[in-house]
Amino acid sequence: MKKYCILTYGCQMNVHESEKLAGILENFGYERETNPQISDVVVFNTCAIRESAEQKIMGNIGELKQAKRNNKEMVIAVCGCMTQQDNYPEMLKAKFPFIDIIMGSHNIADFGELLQKYLNSRKKIIEVGAPQDILKRDSMPKIRTSGINAWINISYGCNNYCTYCIVPYVRGRETSRPREDILKEVCECVNAGYKQITLLGQNVNSYGNDNREKFGTFAELLRDIDKIEGKFRIRFMTSHPKDLSEEVIDVIASSNKICHYLHLPIQSGSDRILKLMNRSYNREKYLNLIKLARERISGVEFSSDIIVGFPTETEEDFLETLSVVKEVGYQQLFTYIYSKRKGTVAEKLDGQVPLSVKKDRIARLIKLEQELATEISSKYIGRTEEVLIEDVHPKKQGIVIGSLDCGKTVNIKGDPSLVGSFQRVKITNAKLTVLYGEIV
Ligand code: SF4
Repeated sequence: MKKYCILTYGCQMNVHESEKLAGILENFGYERETNPQISDVVVFNTCAIRESAEQKIMGNIGELKQAKRNNKEMVIAVCGCMTQQDNYPEMLKAKFPFIDIIMGSHNIADFGELLQKYLNSRKKIIEVGAPQDILKRDSMPKIRTSGINAWINISYGCNNYCTYCIVPYVRGRETSRPREDILKEVCECVNAGYKQITLLGQNVNSYGNDNREKFGTFAELLRDIDKIEGKFRIRFMTSHPKDLSEEVIDVIASSNKICHYLHLPIQSGSDRILKLMNRSYNREKYLNLIKLARERISGVEFSSDIIVGFPTETEEDFLETLSVVKEVGYQQLFTYIYSKRKGTVAEKLDGQVPLSVKKDRIARLIKLEQELATEISSKYIGRTEEVLIEDVHPKKQGIVIGSLDCGKTVNIKGDPSLVGSFQRVKITNAKLTVLYGEIV
């Protein structure tokens, strides 16, 4: 059988879009392979959010030069956010003349047609543009690859224009998916045995803003999904603090299925930097949201994204970020060094922070996160919690990995037959962000 390999970079949206690309390739009769060097079709599903990601992707594409020389029939396709940027298709074509298909982040629904066209003609294809129907990709066949987890798109694109972010330029304006289509897909996934449904959008809380009458609100969508019968968990990402409503907090609080966990990126603890980032909230408003969620949602935990070294960030600004981290006590942090992105507002700001300062700040932030992590995890020791067993441990035999409703990871003694089940687990130990427990 001919083989395909998809290399996915970046966010969960891309992971799910790769599942749709896999659906197309398996319909063509290709079989999944993890080694691109021996594959007949290789797809790079790219990310443009940071310069380091782009460098890695370019390096990985370059590694296929010899394989393509040895196997002229090999098809190499590049898609995703990187190709959607101005002048990138031409740059990729010039730098890697052995790429056969270049398509944008909006064109993945047409991948089957483009691949067929290429196989028929063996003529290089560049297709980067906004299609008529951005939601066409939702009706594509999918090969879900995340075990008991199913990812479901509820919206595409973003209208927020945070000054450091390239996403609105490469993913376009926010477009919500009809509520009935989302509910139908959730039902299908639950009936197929998926135990954890994660709703995806660049900004899930603003679901429906593009046509309130037609789509309703995110809170209403959550309420409807919560009513679907079956034992499963509902998660969502990513939430923008400016759009997290009291109504959404109350829906989570009163639900048995929606996890008591919020990924709420603050990005910086300094009001001055938040304003420069165009985040539309300040520290006080953010902390009030955290307080409200803690008061209403029992046992809620938070995670966040933080960027260090945004242009003009001073030591005082950075100390504000450290103090917010201490005050909230996140169960997990995703930390990034600011990366200049061409075409964004922040690219043109004076006062770029030297790399050595950025590196020092991120190291201090990670150190603080680690100091707090064990303390936050330790409060679970001795408790008995419901755990969803998600997978076997990739390295330790006889250990399975599960998650608490609040998102914390637990390592438990057990065999693979437990995967997909809910278990009562007594937490016996904690190390950094990971818990250890025994089935009771
Ligand atoms: S909300 Fe801001 S950071 Fe998130 S995708 Fe939109 S512009 Fe980018």
